[in-house]
Amino acid sequence: VDSVFRTRSLGVAAEGLPDQYADGKAAKVWQLYIGDTQSRTQEYKSWLVSVLKQSGVRNVLDVACGTGVDSIMLVEEGFNMVSVDASDKMLKYALKARWERRKEKAFDEWVIEEANWLTLPEDIQKPGDGFDAVICLGNSFAHLPDFKGDQSDQKLALRNIASMVRPGGILIIDHRNYDYILETGRAPQGKNIYYKSDLTQDISTSVLWVNSKPHMITLDYTIHVPQSIIKDLPEVSKFRLSYYPHRLESFTAILNEAFSGKMLHSVYGDFKAYVPGQTDAPCYFIHLCKKTA
Ligand code: SAH
Repeated sequence: VDSVFRTRSLGVAAEGLPDQYADGKAAKVWQLYIGDTQSRTQEYKSWLVSVLKQSGVRNVLDVACGTGVDSIMLVEEGFNMVSVDASDKMLKYALKARWERRKEKAFDEWVIEEANWLTLPEDIQKPGDGFDAVICLGNSFAHLPDFKGDQSDQKLALRNIASMVRPGGILIIDHRNYDYILETGRAPQGKNIYYKSDLTQDISTSVLWVNSKPHMITLDYTIHVPQSIIKDLPEVSKFRLSYYPHRLESFTAILNEAFSGKMLHSVYGDFKAYVPGQTDAPCYFIHLCKKTA
């Protein structure tokens, strides 16, 4: 790179809302990286399913379904799913999975649409008061950049997402531990606790500061793909994704704003109740927000 800081893989268009998956490559490698859909770790699955069941959830909106990994798991668990994503390149994997299993009633009834968080109320039909639960997982929300420097787009997106939750319902939304990344300058390496992938992964981390504030974090993923798995991908696949580094405290504050203060909030670090200042730093923070009436 000469002078321009590239936030996405080469060849991914830069107009409008950046679809960082638009070259189809990250989508393809992503599908491999996360392993097959059976391969959300058992810990992830039991945590999510038990939180949903404890809250008496039936209808779930997945606002960042990507290739469908969480949604498929939840359709299989008997939840009524509406799954949306802004990237058609990612959605096509979800659509394909639904098509292949269309003879199963639950999959036949699975709703998949293209929708953008910035225009969510126009893009999808909200059932009555809203969904029992809305999920936004896999570090997805951090994909939305701070275009204007005042986080107004992120606030709008969160308001739209929160508006889909019925009173008494829940929002489950996560992000990497950016506090840790900003302190150490490095994302945790090695296996991802979210995905039971066997592929080796290296992540190189860059942090862009603007006016003394961390503005963007770029992760370069290198994935080693065994040739036996797929023929049309190079053995070493690289893709680049950029994220907004949400800090635990400030993200909690904008969540609270999105719910106009009507929120009961708890934080989990890697699926365990998080105690601020605890010694082992989790890789991911998961916010559980209950919309109070
Ligand atoms: N939850 C999935 C997907 C993670 S990738 C998983 O864990 O595997 C993040 C997803 O967020 C991508 O599919 C991307 O297209 C989607 N996304 C990013 N910005 C978005 C926006 N503004 N509106 C809707 N989806 C968006």
